[in-house]
Amino acid sequence: MNITSFDVTRARKDTEGCERVLHFNNAGAALMPRQVVETVVNHLKLEAATGGYEAAEVSDEKIQGVYESLGRLMDCGVDEIAVVENATRAWDMAFYGIPFRSGDRILTSEAEYASNYIAFLQVSRRTGAVIEVIPNDSYGQVSVDALRDMLDEHVKLIAVNHVPTNGGLVNPAADIGKAAREAGVLYLLDACQSVGQIPINVKKIVCDMLSGTGRKFLRGPRGTGFLYVRREVLNRLEPPFLDLHAACWTASEQYEIRSDARRFENWETNVAGKLGLGAAVDYALSWGIENIWNRVSALAQFFRDSLAGIPGTVIHDLGRTKCGIVSFTIKGKSSREIKSLLSKKKINVSVSPIEYTRLDMEKRRIESMVRASVHYYNTEEEVLRFTEEIKRLSTA
Ligand SMILES: *Cc1c(COP(=O)(O)O)cnc(C)c1O
Repeated sequence: MNITSFDVTRARKDTEGCERVLHFNNAGAALMPRQVVETVVNHLKLEAATGGYEAAEVSDEKIQGVYESLGRLMDCGVDEIAVVENATRAWDMAFYGIPFRSGDRILTSEAEYASNYIAFLQVSRRTGAVIEVIPNDSYGQVSVDALRDMLDEHVKLIAVNHVPTNGGLVNPAADIGKAAREAGVLYLLDACQSVGQIPINVKKIVCDMLSGTGRKFLRGPRGTGFLYVRREVLNRLEPPFLDLHAACWTASEQYEIRSDARRFENWETNVAGKLGLGAAVDYALSWGIENIWNRVSALAQFFRDSLAGIPGTVIHDLGRTKCGIVSFTIKGKSSREIKSLLSKKKINVSVSPIEYTRLDMEKRRIESMVRASVHYYNTEEEVLRFTEEIKRLSTA
């Protein structure tokens, strides 16, 4: 059974982990394909054999190629990309680079990620900027109408996520972008959970800044992330940290910040990981992100339909468009307990606790949810096997 014309067999052949686990934790960290693993390992071997600096030097073209790959993925220039340790640091470098003043308004979403919200709180305390939450519409996604009503000259930033960490919701990123651009407001999109499963085109989304991570739906190595910053806004952001890579010490009392987005990077980096990120992007592009999205969204819908009839199991995904993340609870069982019982059957899921998306979960009165996230290499058979386990747990 195969609900889309995706060559799942080939995808699984490239993915060693598929033989060992039923991996529904792609929103945590997806299984890497061998092409990514080989890229990372080969570079580590080169470092061991020839020296770390020397290995980077001979790999320079490949390293520059990582930016070109990310540029193809998001439809932007190589000068608009920084590669950093993770999505949070990428997001931070943009957010903390904005010169907030007292009374500036920061607009965000109900399902905003804890790390982002903690940063809002810190900056709010420091500067007197105020945090305001854009209400959801009846589908549970960011209401673009409500956003438009909130916009005025005091709004300094709209910072929302494309897909929240805790569910299948896909926010209308491009409609938000249109409203932001018309109002001339900076727009920072957290695309951590969408990049790799949903087509991302920064020109169509019309965002100014976008952060992403390597290990989630892109299937890259851990400890990799990236930031897109639109060329026109680069100079309006002052990187919160500078070093001799982000800037140049030009005279004893002077320095000059790099002109491109690499001003948000720092010098020392995991070169093998960076190359692995590039390999992951190339691999994703070789399948076609549109094809990936069709496969992932269809499989997730099949998944929700399979779970739907199970008594005691409640699916919590919001939104008009839903992605590969399926969130649910089982009456009388804690999410942790479910995760650990599934883990004994070599089934990987994760738990979304209230602390990760507090505003959203408090409003919905949910303490925690099981997060089961599918990728294109997962199969309908895996979904059915999973559903059988959940049936057993629901009645146990
Ligand atoms: C995972 C996640 C992040 C953080 O990404 P890291 O790479 O762990 O820093 C940010 N936002 C959302 C919505 C996430 O799910």
